[in-house]
Amino acid sequence: MSAMLPLEHGDDKIQGWHRDRLAVIYVRQSSRQQVADHGESTRTMGHVGLVLGLEMSRLARAGRDWHQLIELCTLAGALLADADGVYDPDWYNDRLLLGLKGTMTELELRLIRQRMASGRLARAGRGELAVPLPAGFARRASGEVALDPDEQVQAVVRLVFGLFEQLGTVHAVLRFLAGHQVQIGMRERSGPGKGEVAWRAPHQQGLVNMLRNPAYAGICAYGRSRTDPARRLPGREHSGRARGLESGQWLVRIDGALPAYISVEQYERNLARLAANRARAESMGAPREGPALPGGLVACGICGHRLQVSYEASGQGLTGRYCCQRRHHTYGQARCQQMAARFLDEHVVAQVLSALAPAALELSVTAAAQAGDRRAEADRIWRQRLERAGFACDRARRQYQLAEPENRLVARQLEREREAALAERAHLGEEYQRYQRARPARLSAAELAAIRALASDIPALWAAPTTTIADRKPLLRAVVESVQVTADGATERVHAAITWAGGQQTHAGLRRPVARTGQLSYYPALTERIRALAGQGLGSAAIAGQLAAEGFRTPRQHERFHDGEIQQLIRRLGPRPGLDHDHRTDQGGLGPGQWWLAALAREISMPAATLFGWLKRGWITGRQDTRPPCRWIITADSAEVERLRTLHQLPAGYHNRRRWTDDGTPIETSTDKEPGNHAREDLRSLH
Ligand SMILES: [Zn+2]
Repeated sequence: MSAMLPLEHGDDKIQGWHRDRLAVIYVRQSSRQQVADHGESTRTMGHVGLVLGLEMSRLARAGRDWHQLIELCTLAGALLADADGVYDPDWYNDRLLLGLKGTMTELELRLIRQRMASGRLARAGRGELAVPLPAGFARRASGEVALDPDEQVQAVVRLVFGLFEQLGTVHAVLRFLAGHQVQIGMRERSGPGKGEVAWRAPHQQGLVNMLRNPAYAGICAYGRSRTDPARRLPGREHSGRARGLESGQWLVRIDGALPAYISVEQYERNLARLAANRARAESMGAPREGPALPGGLVACGICGHRLQVSYEASGQGLTGRYCCQRRHHTYGQARCQQMAARFLDEHVVAQVLSALAPAALELSVTAAAQAGDRRAEADRIWRQRLERAGFACDRARRQYQLAEPENRLVARQLEREREAALAERAHLGEEYQRYQRARPARLSAAELAAIRALASDIPALWAAPTTTIADRKPLLRAVVESVQVTADGATERVHAAITWAGGQQTHAGLRRPVARTGQLSYYPALTERIRALAGQGLGSAAIAGQLAAEGFRTPRQHERFHDGEIQQLIRRLGPRPGLDHDHRTDQGGLGPGQWWLAALAREISMPAATLFGWLKRGWITGRQDTRPPCRWIITADSAEVERLRTLHQLPAGYHNRRRWTDDGTPIETSTDKEPGNHAREDLRSLH
């Protein structure tokens, strides 16, 4: 190195103390993070007299590194030297020169990069750029791209596209491939086996890339991804790529430049399908696991967005709920509506089954044919694998036979290889037999007959244990476009509108299970009946029987109330039928517009203690009954009840804030939830 350095030019710059120090060859650190973390060179700088480089300006790729080096050398009093001379960065002229050299290099690198990029682009534009090819393609010696000459590689690629067309999701394709042990053949891009076919297990992202790759539709594309500087991570060279740009944003797109596996229409259909499978609120989403069948199809009749399905484990397996989270998540408002999934699922399924009946037979025949085709295809790939193993055996046998007996070392190795090939073939043969037993290439006559028989009885087919939820969901989606549900407030009434593929609609009024009796739309009628029946002196069992006969359902939509529930209801209905006329005082019950405090609290669905607090504050008017147990009687006509209901539904803390702004003084609110001891005594008699 020193031979190349005309150090004599710099004699006047090199001082004695420079010669006493180390000479260092600068190795450029390539990233900002490395410069920050590896402070070794900075720390040793004090011992350095001279920094050598082949061509000084090549020391830096970016101006930042270069100026940092100059600055460090200036601080440490070190010199810089290259083939052109020795520079003292402390000298103004040398510093100017070094700065210029850095700028020139940056410019030079930029030009080179630009020229390379435009060259690549031009070649890509002519369709001549040698980009790495995906599975299923091979490059001829002439540079021309052709379908892979390996028949099995081609068959697998076609199978993947065929499966996606039929099954509709990447995961289903992956499950099929894994279940049938189908592997994807890739040409090795580097290493000793370059150009050989390597068989790899398929994986999710690989399949997605395949479906997204325009090459399979014969499109030569370049610039399908861009680097977004804002998304780059420090120290990660390939980070910040924005992949999967729309076709219109590609730099180059030449249709028909490559041999195609699928049509451009099919390619576009696949992209649309992949996009729709993404479970976003805006799109329908692929059928998900879980028993809620129309999940993803159910839309909110209030805001129009998709209802989310959630599951809870319960005694009967998973229980689904539909919930419109949209307003809640986006705007922090109350959820539009939520409801149990089962009653809606049952309705939709019943509608679908009755709609399907005529088309069923034809459908079953097509389904059987499709299943048969797929099995045949997988079987063919299996036989190709066996054939390949057979060739490997033959080759190993020939090589072994050709080896000279004297060359024992080679012969022994070849014998081992032959045995390995034989074992591999035997193993594959056994696997194939096992596979065949599990999934015969053709559906048997009995299987076909069973499918046809089931098709004539659709409900049985639907309910058959062999029909999985995963089978049912796509079928449902094939005929149902969407299900719009609108609950009538908090009541049990739900309006459901099924939109069929083709646009026709079926409307129905359904009843969903609700949590509380008070939510029922027929609550007033129900209480009226209970009062009347209790007034006739009927016991709770008799009342329950009578209610069931009259068609009153429980909040959970069961046919009959439990006796206990009736007793509870009677207790709850403030003016207890038995107490309406007080025998002890021989006084009558309450007049119109009068409520027992507890009854009014229940009517408004609020804690009695809170209502009592309101009474104490004078927000409601009432008097205490003179007869023991001296309960409070509130005066409230229907308008007043409504006012109180609205008041209660205001957000927590609202009352305090309101009062504060009204007259400038906060009110003591401790009685709001916690009445004093005196109040507690009074309350005891409310229940
Ligand atoms: Zn909604």
